[in-house]
Amino acid sequence: METIKREVIKLKKAGYGFVKIANTLSISVKEVRSICKEVDKVELLKGNCKQCNSKITSVKGKKIKQFCSDRCRWDYWNNKQKVERYKNDI
Ligand SMILES: [Zn+2]
Repeated sequence: METIKREVIKLKKAGYGFVKIANTLSISVKEVRSICKEVDKVELLKGNCKQCNSKITSVKGKKIKQFCSDRCRWDYWNNKQKVERYKNDI
């Protein structure tokens, strides 16, 4: 089963559609779809900090983190506010 999963990911990254993947691996489209759904969920847990771009991995089942630290979150919103204030001044 794990091998099939890996093959699905590989073909998906190569730009194959669900039907083409299903035909290539001789599995059902439904299976392909459920594997892709599962994979997407796992990939969502990995991301980069919006401020400093360092890698963050969120804990499964918890809210997905957008920042690596409180400091970065604070800097990000602070900068955003400044930009908006600047826009309003024009
Ligand atoms: Zn950061």
